[in-house]
Amino acid sequence: MPGLYVHFPFCASKCSYCDFYARVRRDWNPYVEALLQEIRDRAATLSVPPTTLYFGGGTPSLLPPALLARVADAICDAFCVTLPSCPASTGHLITEFTVEVNPDDVRPALADALRAMGVNRVSMGVQSFHDAQLRWMRRRHTAAQAEAACATLRRAGFDNLSLDLIFGFVGLSDADWLVSVDRALALQPEHISCYQMMGRWADGEEERCRRQYVLLQERLSAAGFEQYEISNYARPGFASRHNSAYWSREPYLGFGAGAHSFDGDRRRSWNTPDIDAYVGKRPGGSETLSDREVLEEKLMLGLRTVRGLSLASLSDAERAALKKTTLEELSRAGKLVVSDNYIRIPKEELFVSDWIISQVFPGNSEPGRSSR
Ligand code: SF4
Repeated sequence: MPGLYVHFPFCASKCSYCDFYARVRRDWNPYVEALLQEIRDRAATLSVPPTTLYFGGGTPSLLPPALLARVADAICDAFCVTLPSCPASTGHLITEFTVEVNPDDVRPALADALRAMGVNRVSMGVQSFHDAQLRWMRRRHTAAQAEAACATLRRAGFDNLSLDLIFGFVGLSDADWLVSVDRALALQPEHISCYQMMGRWADGEEERCRRQYVLLQERLSAAGFEQYEISNYARPGFASRHNSAYWSREPYLGFGAGAHSFDGDRRRSWNTPDIDAYVGKRPGGSETLSDREVLEEKLMLGLRTVRGLSLASLSDAERAALKKTTLEELSRAGKLVVSDNYIRIPKEELFVSDWIISQVFPGNSEPGRSSR
C-alpha cells in the first residue's frame, strides 16, 4: 500500500559518518511553508489512499512540534486520511506514523506533542552505547541520554520504538559491540536497525565486520527478534510497514528537499537536494526505468528481505531473463535458496548479499568469483 515520506533536512550538527541530505541551519519556517504547498500540489497524483507516513531527516525532532503538527495536519487534509490515535473521522486510516528523533531532543513536551499529533512509532538514532564512540561519531548525546529518552517516550505512551545502531567501524571490538547490543535490548525496543559503517577495509577488517554481523543476528534472535531484512529486526508484528513497502516496490510520495517518489511501476522522481532551491522553485528530476532496470530493482529490493523475491511477482519475460544456470550454481554454493516460488538469500549469507545479488543480474554469469 502507498506510503508518504516527508524530509526535514535540518540538523544541529553533522555526524562524522552521515551522507544523508541534511544541513546545519535552523531557517525551517519558509521550508515548512514550501512543504505545505508541495503536499497540496501533489496530493491528487496518488490514486490510492496512503497507509503509512514517515517523517525523516535530517532531524525532524529538532523542529518545533507545532511545525511538525502543521505538516501532519496538511497531510490529513490533502489526502483525506486520519492519523493513528486521532479522533475518528471519515478519512482513511494511516496505520503507521513514524517520526525519527535524536535522543538529545527528546523531552516530555516533545514526546507528548508527538503522541498528540498521531505518531505511533518513534525511530531513534542511538548508534552506540559507548560515550567515547559517540564523541568520535560526533553524535550530540551520551548513552545515558539515549536511555533517558527511551524512558520518556515510554512514559508518553509509545509502544513501538525502534533503535538504530552502527557496527563495523574501525576499532570496534566484538566485546564493545555486544555491550551496545545488550544495552539496546535492555530497553526492550520493538524494533532494531543495525547499519554497517562503510569505509575502506584494511586486512582482516571484513572478517571482523562479518563476525559482528553474525553476533548481532545470534543475540537478537535469542532475544525474540525476527530478522526481516539485511539491517532490520523486529519483535513479531513490529516490522516497519513503511520501509517494507519500499522493498516490495509499492508506490510512495516523498515531500521536501532531496525526497524521492515512485509510482509503483517504472517512474521515479525526486526533488533536488537543496533547501534554498526547494523553497524557491522546487526543481527536481524524473526517470522512466527500462525493462532491465525494473528487473534489477526487483532483484535488489526483494533479495534484501529475508522472505526473498516472489517469483510470482515477475513477468514471464523477467523470469526468462534470469539465468537458470547462475541460480542453480548459487543454490549449490548455498548462496541462494529457490523454494515455494521465492528466491531468497539465507540469513547466514546476507552479509555478502550485494555480491550475490549482483550475480543474479541478467547477463552476469560468474558465480564462482570472490565474494567482494
Ligand atoms: S543527526 Fe542524522 S541526519 Fe543529522 S548529521 Fe547525524 S546522522 Fe546525519
